[in-house]
Amino acid sequence: MELYSGYINKLIEELAALPGIGSKSAQRLAFHLINMPAEKVNRLANVIVEAKANVRYCKECYTLTDRELCPVCANEKRNHRMIMVVENSRDLAAYEKTGKYEGVYHVLHGAISPMLGIGPGDIKLKELIARLQGDVEEVIIATNSSLEGETTAMYISKLIKPSGIRVTRIASGVPVGGDLEYIDEVTLLRALEGRVEI
Ligand code: ZN
Repeated sequence: MELYSGYINKLIEELAALPGIGSKSAQRLAFHLINMPAEKVNRLANVIVEAKANVRYCKECYTLTDRELCPVCANEKRNHRMIMVVENSRDLAAYEKTGKYEGVYHVLHGAISPMLGIGPGDIKLKELIARLQGDVEEVIIATNSSLEGETTAMYISKLIKPSGIRVTRIASGVPVGGDLEYIDEVTLLRALEGRVEI
């Protein structure tokens, strides 16, 4: 027996497909949306559609931005010879929040995971290698300390090493399996300062 109307069920289904939203939360959100004034619902729907239509990858570092170059890459005061490799734009935001990192970034949009069938070709790795043709002094690998993050770090290190560019890995102290975005700024800075050559 269908408990709710087809429209409500559809809405719950779509919301439940979002990360971190279980079926209970999806139901709560669905009823909240239905009870919202129509103009608020329209505004929310438009914001989603506009964000999707206008957000793209920065042509340098591949973070999500609505300009050709993200604010970090567009900033000439940043050290463009130091590239920190992170798994996603949220990790970049976490380091930016510390306000202490002066280099630029490269966003992989994932990590190598043989288990999930994600190979080097599925993340922005060849884009990173292409950037290294320029004037680069150091690549800091700041992927997560999960199995996937470590696998990715080793892979990148082996790939870059022969070029003579300095390759470093942020220090442990970042909890194993911990997503960078959940780690406090002091820990992030300590991890950055304590980075070691690999
Ligand atoms: Zn950028």
